[in-house]
Amino acid sequence: MNNTLDLAKLLISKKSVTPDDAGCQEIIASRLKKIGFHIEHLKFGEVDNLWATYGDSGPIFVFLGHTDVVPTGPIDEWDSDPFIATEKGPFMVGRGTADMKSSVAAFVTSIEDFLKENHSLIGRIGVLLTSDEEGPAINGISKVVDYLEKKGEKISWCLVGEPTSDNRLGDVIKIGRRGSISARINVIGTQGHVAYPDKANNPIHSFSVPLVELSNLKWKDQTGEFQDSVLQISNLNSGTGATNVIPGNLLLDLNVRHSPSTSAEEIKSDIESILKKYHINYEIDWVIGGKPFLTTELDLINAVKDSINEVKGIEPVCSTDGGTSDGRFIAPTGAQVVEFGPGNASIHKVNESVRTEDLEGLNAIYKTILIKLVSES
Ligand SMILES: [Zn+2]
Repeated sequence: MNNTLDLAKLLISKKSVTPDDAGCQEIIASRLKKIGFHIEHLKFGEVDNLWATYGDSGPIFVFLGHTDVVPTGPIDEWDSDPFIATEKGPFMVGRGTADMKSSVAAFVTSIEDFLKENHSLIGRIGVLLTSDEEGPAINGISKVVDYLEKKGEKISWCLVGEPTSDNRLGDVIKIGRRGSISARINVIGTQGHVAYPDKANNPIHSFSVPLVELSNLKWKDQTGEFQDSVLQISNLNSGTGATNVIPGNLLLDLNVRHSPSTSAEEIKSDIESILKKYHINYEIDWVIGGKPFLTTELDLINAVKDSINEVKGIEPVCSTDGGTSDGRFIAPTGAQVVEFGPGNASIHKVNESVRTEDLEGLNAIYKTILIKLVSES
């Protein structure tokens, strides 16, 4: 029986819906402790985090992942119990199979296999897990990063096990992610009767021209690795429902996914200068979802690419698209960050699945990365 598969199945059987870890990290910690890891459980608020390290000196390579999963959605739409990993043809179905308990299981088994082979170590190995990646991520990796900084610990290489593959295991890895900034704008007018517009101030009318300008905002990417950054409006609400009332305000939500060429400050200032140009009376709330990052040093990128090539015989594409991940918290510390995991076609969906044979592939590729980065051979 495949060891990685067994461990993945055990983790999937734990109902670890964010922020509940449901015992997953304890299972992993006890496996790692057995092979000589130093274990620290870091609980912040209701979020469980695990920091486990092996080795005494040298740069540290860290596997980063999460034990939490998104809710199942309508349970009767699943073909099988989402918390019982069920093999169906070439796939294994269950919540967290792809995002990302298979990767987490392969972290553990690849380290076990690597240490069994008695390589001579030139670095350290770390495993960093949180139970709040899918949620607000306030008490997760961001807090652990603060803790590590206080300890003077600096991560050199970080492999995030998020599902990145497209059609085949290893065909896509991520070497960066866009940043995300959101805003809610409240355009303030004066409510009144439609028959007396001179006694009111219609926010729909006053906002119509700036709305067009906002929706045309675009920031060019200069790195050559990202798409240009564009603004998207996700919600636009105004009106009282009555047809004879000029509304008193208008609410708009927007988001920009941006490349490292454009800072959040630049985006804020471009948006606010449009509002000011048209003398809009507004309130605005900003939320910075994550800073963009791009890994440009080649040690980790090449180790991942070469390992995939050796195990699967394919050349991965380096991508920067998709949403954010916990890599956003590690990259600003100066670590090289690369994301690589199984196929992502079914993540967060009903009947989430992974190709069962990819668990062995993940184990072998992760082990090869360890050999390349932290051992002499
Ligand atoms: Zn994930």
